[in-house]
Amino acid sequence: MLVDMDYFFVACEELRHPEIRNVPAIVGSDPKGGAGRGVVMTCNYNARKYGIRSGMPISAAYRIKPDAVYMKLDYEYYEKISEKIMRTVKTFGDKFEQVSIDEAYIDVTKRVEGRPALEYAEAVKKAVFENAGIKCSIGIGPNKLIAKIACEKAKPDGIKIVEEKDAKSFIEKMSVDELYGVGRKTAERLRAMGYETVGQLAKANIAKMVGEFGSMGAELVRYANGVDDSEITENYAVKSIGREFTFEKDTDDMNEVEREIGRLGNDVIEDVKKGGFTFKTVTLKLRYSDFTEHLHSRSIKAASEAAALINTAKALYNENVDAEKKIRKVGVRVSNLASSRGQKRIV
Ligand SMILES: [Mg+2]
Repeated sequence: MLVDMDYFFVACEELRHPEIRNVPAIVGSDPKGGAGRGVVMTCNYNARKYGIRSGMPISAAYRIKPDAVYMKLDYEYYEKISEKIMRTVKTFGDKFEQVSIDEAYIDVTKRVEGRPALEYAEAVKKAVFENAGIKCSIGIGPNKLIAKIACEKAKPDGIKIVEEKDAKSFIEKMSVDELYGVGRKTAERLRAMGYETVGQLAKANIAKMVGEFGSMGAELVRYANGVDDSEITENYAVKSIGREFTFEKDTDDMNEVEREIGRLGNDVIEDVKKGGFTFKTVTLKLRYSDFTEHLHSRSIKAASEAAALINTAKALYNENVDAEKKIRKVGVRVSNLASSRGQKRIV
């Protein structure tokens, strides 16, 4: 089962600005009177009526509908709502895989034994709406590929079930670019090769496809036949990032400890940047030579810079250190992480 929120960012904005529900509303870059760069991230169905779509240049949206409501992306706010949604969705599956801020697969194979899948999906939708106030669409299929395509067909606010025996016929009349994993460029190349529909692609010569696309070519033919063996894989969210250091000789030299906090802080920031995170909480750990250990934490405005981390950790050290004792070990940790990147998108 794929559970995907409907026009998620704007739906979140509607929760705190109910007045935008009945007008075209867009979350994306600042349109700057039509001169703005960047794109529409999400828009509601009122905006879609005018032909506005996510991924469209914001300037194009502005030309179509200058009087729409334009809002900037507030990722932190959306993540809070997403957390509520994902906690809810997770309880409905034996396996759970979050694929983006507003989408997750759950394995419900055993959960729907002896009961209608439709009823189960309705219960998921109801729970999401009750807990988070957001509407979603659900696709159900024998594998992730079919669930994903079914979900697209269910939008908005719908449920689409495709049984295994119907999977192939469900997709065969679709245009190749509706197939999962086929972006605009791949679709163009497939059309140039004479494959317009998924059904045509399903009969393609695999060797020829591999010659053209590499191993992805064989995968596309499998997809076109409705086959997808990939598992729903749990991804364990990173909760915190930290580093510790044990001094060779216990020390009460404040300069030495501060230098080490600086070094640890820089290492932590490297991982923060690699993961594309921001952090809001800094924790300093001090272990003394008598083996007592103390944790000191402070929350700050979301940051990803070394200075924010190191200055906070040093302040915690200066305010809390027991100058009577020697220090054996020091640790620096950041938590309350959020992704500083936008939504994942398949091109
Ligand atoms: Mg969505």
